[in-house]
Amino acid sequence: LSEIKLFIALIHYPVINKAGEVITSAITGIDLHDIARLSKTYGIKRFFVVTPLKDQAELVKRLTEHWVTGAGASYNPDRKKALELIRVAKDYSNVVSEVRKFAGMTPETVVTCANKRNDAIGYPEFKQKLKNGRPYILNFGTAWGLSGEWIDNADYVLEPVYGITGYNHLSVRSAASIIIDRLLHDN
Ligand code: SAM
Repeated sequence: LSEIKLFIALIHYPVINKAGEVITSAITGIDLHDIARLSKTYGIKRFFVVTPLKDQAELVKRLTEHWVTGAGASYNPDRKKALELIRVAKDYSNVVSEVRKFAGMTPETVVTCANKRNDAIGYPEFKQKLKNGRPYILNFGTAWGLSGEWIDNADYVLEPVYGITGYNHLSVRSAASIIIDRLLHDN
């Protein structure tokens, strides 16, 4: 069983708004804390926060510096261990090259979305794939989700998480937690 090499990317562009237009969403601090803690819990190698906006990238850097090297680090060492997984990237090609350097192999791109697609890959099948030791970047969107083009260009689209009612409006934090646990809980 080769070591699982799974990375997370939280995408802030291109995502869509309520009207389906492609926008750049703002960073949400709680997304960084929650998904970094999730990543640390499940051995995710790096958590990439992708935004093309300089001021937003600065915000990510300020937040992580506080908890990794600043006052937060001594106040809460556990949080430091999670947030030090965060890397900010201005575009996805930077993420791919970082992962290629880290893993020594070109990663494949997996995207998530709440809408059913007939080209989606199921959890058991993708779990199996992960065991081949190749690097995979699991993409989560913000706002109303990843753009259609982003999803179409991915190597794999993961089956949506379905609840047990018709209600399907999970936050990215909840969706990421459910998906990561489904993929990794029994490793
Ligand atoms: N309707 C949007 C969509 O189709 O993705 C929901 C956007 S949600 C606020 C932000 C992100 O959470 C999505 O881009 C996706 O990564 C993830 N997400 C939300 N609900 C999901 C679900 N049921 N299954 C898989 N991923 C989900």
